[in-house]
Amino acid sequence: MIIDPNNNVLSILEYNDIERHVSEVIATGNAIDRKDRINIFVCDGCKGHVITRDVDLGFAPAFSHCGSCTTPGQAVLMHTCGYPIIDQTMREDAQWHRPSYSAYIRMHPKQREYINQGGLVMRPYQSPLTVVKG
Ligand SMILES: [Zn+2]
Repeated sequence: MIIDPNNNVLSILEYNDIERHVSEVIATGNAIDRKDRINIFVCDGCKGHVITRDVDLGFAPAFSHCGSCTTPGQAVLMHTCGYPIIDQTMREDAQWHRPSYSAYIRMHPKQREYINQGGLVMRPYQSPLTVVKG
């Protein structure tokens, strides 16, 4: 995998290869396959929680910003509950996914570096039955 040290942008072919990279990391036992698994994030401030699901192969972070508490001046973190053993059929509030390539190339170089390592980003829940317009 060739990474431009100036901006961390991969070609689309290299970008599409990330899933294979993640599969290899999982196969060597250095990571656990959590695709389709439910997790819970709890806010350290308000104690609110978000149910998430990993919808793509990759690595979700252990912390995320709380959408209720975080202000432009201060980030308040939510922490992972470590994929507890809970009903996997419940509907998630948000999903950890791999961004599209067009979204990826617009990201900050630091965020691209994270994505290049197989990192996933959060989006609101999207039904698999959602009809794509056009
Ligand atoms: Zn909060």
